[in-house]
Amino acid sequence: MVLTKVFCSKCGASRENYELVCNSCGSPFIIKVSGPYEKNMDGNFDYFEHPLIPLSSKTPVIETPEFMAKLEFYNPTLSYKDRGMNTLFSFLSEKKFLKKGDEVSEDSSGNAGASFAMFSQMLNLKATVYTSVSANPNKIRQIQGYGSRIERINGSRKDVENSAKNSGLIYLGHQYWPEFYDGFRVIAYEIFEQMDHLPENILIPFSTGTLYLGIFEGFSHLLQNGLIDSIPTLWAIQPEIASGMFNKMNNINREPEPSVADALTGIVPLRYSLLNSVIKTYGRCEVLAEDEIIRAKQSLLNLGIDCEYSSAITYATMKKFNLGKNSLLILTGHGIKNI
Ligand SMILES: [Zn+2]
Repeated sequence: MVLTKVFCSKCGASRENYELVCNSCGSPFIIKVSGPYEKNMDGNFDYFEHPLIPLSSKTPVIETPEFMAKLEFYNPTLSYKDRGMNTLFSFLSEKKFLKKGDEVSEDSSGNAGASFAMFSQMLNLKATVYTSVSANPNKIRQIQGYGSRIERINGSRKDVENSAKNSGLIYLGHQYWPEFYDGFRVIAYEIFEQMDHLPENILIPFSTGTLYLGIFEGFSHLLQNGLIDSIPTLWAIQPEIASGMFNKMNNINREPEPSVADALTGIVPLRYSLLNSVIKTYGRCEVLAEDEIIRAKQSLLNLGIDCEYSSAITYATMKKFNLGKNSLLILTGHGIKNI
C-alpha cells in the first residue's frame, strides 16, 4: 500500500484538520505519494477504502495515423474532472467530513461544477455551484440537471471564488483540496498500463494546473518504483488570451479574456511556484491562438472525435509544433459541452 502525505507547499507544515490552506503561512497544500505502485488502482490510494466510482474503469487510448489520444470524456459527466471529484468525495465521505443533507459550495467554469453536482447528488448533499455570468449555458444545464443550485456572479474568476467561499456553506473548491488533483495520478497509471511504449510527448490542456500536477505525480511515482526510465515531456497548453501560467512564467502582464476554450480560465494557478519548477524540468508551457483552437476542433471532428475546444487545443499544439505520431493528446471534455 502506498503512503500519501499532505503538507504545505511553502513551509512544509502538515494539514492539521480539514483546513483549506496552511494555518501558519496561508499557502495551499500539496500531496506526495511514496511506496510501491500497485496494479490494483485502489491500492495506490490510502485515504479511502472504497471509491464512490471504481478506479479500475479505464478511459480508452486511441491511435490514429497522426497521433494518439486518451479520451477523458469517457468519464460519467463527460470530462476528466470526475477523476478528481471521485477521490475527493470518497475521502471526505469516508472521513465523515460530509454527511447526508450537508450544504456544500464550489466555484467552477462548468466541468468541475457538473462533476461536483453529480457526486453531491450521489451523497445526498445540497449543492450550490458559483459560476460567472458568462459561463457556458450547456454546462449550467448539466449542473442543474444533477440537482445543484446555480449562483451566477458578475465579476472576475476570483470574485466567483470568493462568493462560493463566503457563502456560509461548506466550501469544497476543487483547486484547494489536494485530494482532488491527486485523482489525476490514475491517468498516468493508465497510460503506463495501456500503452506498449510511453509516448514522447503528452499534451495537456492547462487551466489551474491540477490536471498537469496529478499526471506528473503519477509518472513520478512510476519512476520512483523503477517502472519507467523517464517521464514523457509534459506540455502545459493554454489559449493565448487566457494564459495566466504562461504569462507569469514569461513576465507578461495581461488579464485573461474569455476563450472559446471556456474550461481554461487563464488565472494564475494556486500552486504556481511548484508548477513553474515542474514545467521547467519536465515539460514546456505554450499558448495557442483562438483560430488555431477552432480549426483544431473541426479537424478532430473530421476524424470522428468530438471533444470540446478546451481539449482540441492539444491537437492545435501538435500541428503547430510539428510533433510526431508519438504524441498523446489528453482530450479532457466532450464536444457536446460546446454545442
Ligand atoms: Zn505553510
